[in-house]
Amino acid sequence: MIVDARLSNLQGIRDILGVDADFPVEMIAKEDWIGRRLVADRFRLGRMFIAGDASHLWVPYAGYGMNAGIADGLNLSWLLAAHIRGWAPETILDAYEAERKPITEQVSRFAMGYAESAIRERNTLPPGIEDETPEGEAIRQALGDRVTANNVQQFACAGLNYGYYYDASPIVAYDCEGAPGYTMYDYTPSTAPGARVPHFFLADGRSVYDVMGQGFALLVLDNQADVAAMVDAAASRGVPLMVVPVDRALDAVPECYTHGMVLSRPDFHVAWRGDVVADAGALIDRVRGGATD
Ligand SMILES: Cc1cc2nc3c(=O)[nH]c(=O)nc-3n(C[C@H](O)[C@H](O)[C@H](O)COP(=O)(O)OP(=O)(O)OC[C@H]3O[C@@H](n4cnc5c(N)ncnc54)[C@H](O)[C@@H]3O)c2cc1C
Repeated sequence: MIVDARLSNLQGIRDILGVDADFPVEMIAKEDWIGRRLVADRFRLGRMFIAGDASHLWVPYAGYGMNAGIADGLNLSWLLAAHIRGWAPETILDAYEAERKPITEQVSRFAMGYAESAIRERNTLPPGIEDETPEGEAIRQALGDRVTANNVQQFACAGLNYGYYYDASPIVAYDCEGAPGYTMYDYTPSTAPGARVPHFFLADGRSVYDVMGQGFALLVLDNQADVAAMVDAAASRGVPLMVVPVDRALDAVPECYTHGMVLSRPDFHVAWRGDVVADAGALIDRVRGGATD
């Protein structure tokens, strides 16, 4: 194979560097890499958790391997902190695998699907591509469109970064509406429980993410909403909860904020939303992984 021959004489390195054949290059280590899609059956065994490439692997595409590992780490870290600090029972840790495994499974299929299509694209040049004819022009245009579609997905992957949602979590209080679907490139912001809290700027220019603190944050968009029961329920269980008043008239609130209250978790995913809280104690117990140990 051409690649192997180039590596064995190190000419590929010189080509990349743009140097002559007498430029000294020494190979000090070599590791074979195999492109594959692997997702572990379990992300947890008792007190052991795995995250990052140890739990999921795919062909590097859309810059998402490290991102997914960091997202695993963020998810696991707030759950562990909640339990270690004493405001959540150990059952909160069940949320880690329930939330992250389905997402990384999904991402692994997205990434592999697009990577395979890009590889096919790279390996096949349609006949006639260099013809200076209207047909040649059409072939070039069609190829350009396909390459653009593949690569825009990859390099502007907002859907992958912001569109995923946890749809079967034991610590999310779902309502009757699921979050909208997403592609690698695109997504529709949503306050459906499990989705990422849609970002917006407050009237004073601050990002809403900068004012939500490190615990739960109750975004209150209806100034008549009764928040006392939720605040009391959180306080009595030691759950960190900050109330963040939002003014629809002044702050740049997206249309998807359709409820009077949105409860954000420490990782900025929606834990609950509503206009009234029927049973604040039960809700706080749900989002902290259960009642007291
Ligand atoms: C060619 C390529 C390009 C990539 N490009 C991107 C990109 O653009 N963007 C992106 O987000 N991701 C990219 N990735 C993926 C990204 O590099 C990985 O997803 C990420 O590095 C995984 O991090 P990790 O900490 O989970 O695992 P690793 O980086 O594999 O770290 C695991 C560490 O554990 C050590 N270790 C293993 N066993 C033991 C042991 N028994 N005791 C102690 N230490 C041990 C290893 O030496 C290693 O340092 C790319 C990957 C490749 C191969």
